[in-house]
Amino acid sequence: MALINENYLKLQAGYLFPEIGRRVNEFIEANPDKKVIKMGIGDVTQPLVPSVVKAFHEGVDEMAKGESFKGYGPEQGYAFLREAIAKNSYQDKGIDISADEIFVSDGSKCDTGNIQEIFGDDNKIAICDPVYPVYADTTVMSGKTGVCQSNGYYDGIIYMPCTEANGFIPELPTESPDLIFLCYPNNPTGTVASKEELKKWVDFAIENKSIILYDAAYEAFITEDGIPHSIYEIEGAKKVAIEFRSFSKTAGFTGTRCATTVIPEELVAYDTEGKSHSVKTLWNRRQSTKFNGVSYPVQKAAAATYSEEGKKEVAEVIAYYLENAKMMRASLTEIGYTVFGGVNAPYVWVKTKNNASSWDFFDKVLNEANVVGTPGSGFGPAGEGYFRFSAFADRENVLEAMERIKNLS
Ligand SMILES: *Cc1c(COP(=O)(O)O)cnc(C)c1O
Repeated sequence: MALINENYLKLQAGYLFPEIGRRVNEFIEANPDKKVIKMGIGDVTQPLVPSVVKAFHEGVDEMAKGESFKGYGPEQGYAFLREAIAKNSYQDKGIDISADEIFVSDGSKCDTGNIQEIFGDDNKIAICDPVYPVYADTTVMSGKTGVCQSNGYYDGIIYMPCTEANGFIPELPTESPDLIFLCYPNNPTGTVASKEELKKWVDFAIENKSIILYDAAYEAFITEDGIPHSIYEIEGAKKVAIEFRSFSKTAGFTGTRCATTVIPEELVAYDTEGKSHSVKTLWNRRQSTKFNGVSYPVQKAAAATYSEEGKKEVAEVIAYYLENAKMMRASLTEIGYTVFGGVNAPYVWVKTKNNASSWDFFDKVLNEANVVGTPGSGFGPAGEGYFRFSAFADRENVLEAMERIKNLS
């Protein structure tokens, strides 16, 4: 008799995006003449930039000729890309990360989930609330939790509320977690962490021999000086942190797939006898066994984001999204909403008026303005009373959506 992994039975049905879809479809069916503007899902809208497209085509052409054809590539990624990432994203910024500490993959979503399997089942995981749902669900799948409570919290996970009161930076937990997920610039709140705040976390991890899983998927959207782009800007972080980066939001690769996981040489975790082991060695073993690399043309395309032209083109697209975010912030503030994020991130986190629930606000915005956003409560209980607007939209849609929201009763 085939038995299932019963941890999957603990998972709550994927509720948020299907429920949004259901309500939107219901509205469209009842109002076929209305133009609905979608500012909900965190996916990019602008095409790949010319330098990336050119490199992508060149990669395909190489695969088409006998003398340049490539079969399996290195599981860790081609040296040309690992070196370009190490140089451009780290060394040129004064951060000492070498190419052999870089693992290229087909996404940060998979890596933030897969990384769990090299850590033991008895690890205690800490995650923020509200949060990118992948961290919690993959923790459940890997068997590190109990069942889900009625408030949406799983037994065995340490939840760290991120609220207006703490500036959306969690307080250090009283229990000591073994693995800590942090994401800055943050999805869904669009807020950032300063060096001092991250230093507090790095020191905490060093003291507790825990590991920080740092998701920097939105690093490229940081506009303000002094905000850390990498956890490794913090002294001591190489001893306690893994960093995830992705070309998805940075360069429009959500449908192309390429990302990076950085595991420093000196990062260790322990066996039950307290003996230390290299995390990089374990991850390398895992990737070499279960992964066969990212396609060559995609890696060529990713490397092109670091060419002089590529950097310029990618920066223009990011500036376009950030200009959207700026307009959204300005419009919403003008009509009396309290807004967070949207300065160093493509998300604007809006507090509803008169303590309206996230879903009530969702219905109002959909029915009266025909605009779709994401209810904050869908990202966790501490997101209740908030709403996320994504700046990944076409400019004219952003302007029209804001105009319609201004006219809400
Ligand atoms: C979009 C996103 C990613 C990127 O995932 P990919 O699998 O690389 O596309 C990672 N983390 C967060 C928080 C995100 O919102």
